[in-house]
Amino acid sequence: MTEAIYIVGHKNPDTDSICSAIAYAELKKKLGISAVAARQGEPNPETKFVLEKFGVEVPELLTDGASKKVILVDHSDIGQSLDNLDQAEIVEIIDHHKIGDVTTPNPIFFLAMPVGCTATVVKTLYDYFGIEIPKNIAGIMLASILSDTVIFKSATTTDKDKKAAEDLAKIAGVEDMETLGMEMFKVKSDIAGKPPRELLFRDFKDFDMSGNKVGIGQIEVVDLSLLDEVKDSLYEEMKKVKEEGGYHSVFMMLTDIIKEGTELLVVSDDSGVVEKAFGKKVEDRSVWLDGVMSRKKQVVPPLEKAFS
Ligand code: MG
Ligand code: MG
Ligand code: MG
Repeated sequence: MTEAIYIVGHKNPDTDSICSAIAYAELKKKLGISAVAARQGEPNPETKFVLEKFGVEVPELLTDGASKKVILVDHSDIGQSLDNLDQAEIVEIIDHHKIGDVTTPNPIFFLAMPVGCTATVVKTLYDYFGIEIPKNIAGIMLASILSDTVIFKSATTTDKDKKAAEDLAKIAGVEDMETLGMEMFKVKSDIAGKPPRELLFRDFKDFDMSGNKVGIGQIEVVDLSLLDEVKDSLYEEMKKVKEEGGYHSVFMMLTDIIKEGTELLVVSDDSGVVEKAFGKKVEDRSVWLDGVMSRKKQVVPPLEKAFS
């Protein structure tokens, strides 16, 4: 038997990173290729809920890429990937973000599509190979799309995501996608009693913006007032993380999925970048960005421009 290929999503994994790794490992197995789904960290409460709901096991933990064959899903940034990635052999990348800074010595299969979710890309691969998607796998793929596209409300949503979700809902026997989506976001919104550091790193990504280390986290809730109690301690934690990690800026997107906007909390060496990026001054410690829900499409690009 050939050595297994590990399929793994980004650090601080979200539902898409974990479920797309599982779904793609399943497809590989059906194609006769030995593949193991992995995760880089503890599944968040939403992901746990989804895996339990559809009866799928939590994949194994993998944080070090040394001497491993790996397929990266849902990212292609070194900073978001396995430790010692330079000692790993990257054999494929399946993603829906901007192309990151990973390089390979050999040609590889690299499929990145400008869609709302990696699970949508994985779905097109199942279709391409003509492989049937198992019911429980369809369920977690659907959940990934609902999570990443914020129930189709995010600016990242495409017709391909909607079509894939409809197909997957049929296979999974999910009659009402909206209800499933709201169930998931209610689990996500349950932040009472959670330590600020956990909330900060639950969905947090590092970026290199013109040589500046920038961290951007996001918390998506059904009502921003749910965050009133934790906002002060979260802000203090952001300051600590900025110092410890040597960041130029640490941003937290507090996203209201019903009002469809984001309060951006800012800790920065130069909060002028926020005004440059979004045309609004940081008042006190944050700025309200109406209609902004997507880090990848509405926050990272303008910030990168402001830093350049
Ligand atoms: Mg992700
Ligand atoms: Mg994703
Ligand atoms: Mg997300």
